[in-house]
Amino acid sequence: MTHSEPARATTRRIRISRTRVAGLLVVIAAIAAALGYQSLASSSSTGASPIDVLRSEHRGLRGEHRGALGEPDGAAPDGATVGALGEADGAVPDGTTVFDDEIPGVANLDPGLLGALRQAATDAADAGVEFYVDSGWRSPEYQNQLLREAVSEYGSEEEAARWVATAETSAHVSGDAVDIGPSDAAAWLSEHGAEYGLCQIYDNEPWHYELRPEAIDHGCPPTYSDPTQDPRMQQ
Ligand SMILES: [Zn+2]
Repeated sequence: MTHSEPARATTRRIRISRTRVAGLLVVIAAIAAALGYQSLASSSSTGASPIDVLRSEHRGLRGEHRGALGEPDGAAPDGATVGALGEADGAVPDGTTVFDDEIPGVANLDPGLLGALRQAATDAADAGVEFYVDSGWRSPEYQNQLLREAVSEYGSEEEAARWVATAETSAHVSGDAVDIGPSDAAAWLSEHGAEYGLCQIYDNEPWHYELRPEAIDHGCPPTYSDPTQDPRMQQ
């Protein structure tokens, strides 16, 4: 093909129309992104998965306090964050793993639970699945704050109790429970956890795992539909 004038004109027209198409695609992508954001926002506010709302708030809490926790001695840089809850109360930074001994939310877990989690996480990693700790041990103060948040989120103590236990009853406060994410890690545990004595306890919390050593030989016990059905929560 020669570089004749008509051919160049044709090329130019094609370029122009490609530019227009590209511009249109950008507009479409922007609209789609806006709609996607709206639908995400509305699905979280309508409570399709209520805990996600709480979890995003917890992330906010973690983020808020990370600056203060960045101080070498862990002290708040000024009076503004005194009384605020941070890592010392069990808030865990994003990306925390079951191997992060320096994070109290991990270090204060029951040693048996932690050992089982580390074995499972090692084997899961071999299968290409990464475990992250969304929540582990929590101080009573932190648990109470979560409960207060849940009551205001769900509008009643009864509904909040389906998702967040009290400081007296929470297995997180005693160091006997961990919330594992993301969903593929929870799915891996759902399939393989019993081999390590790690069991899902509640149908509505597929990320919440506790140690049930007998599960290694006998499988995990039946789940409760939600924490209100758990006799341990009847206090
Ligand atoms: Zn949990």
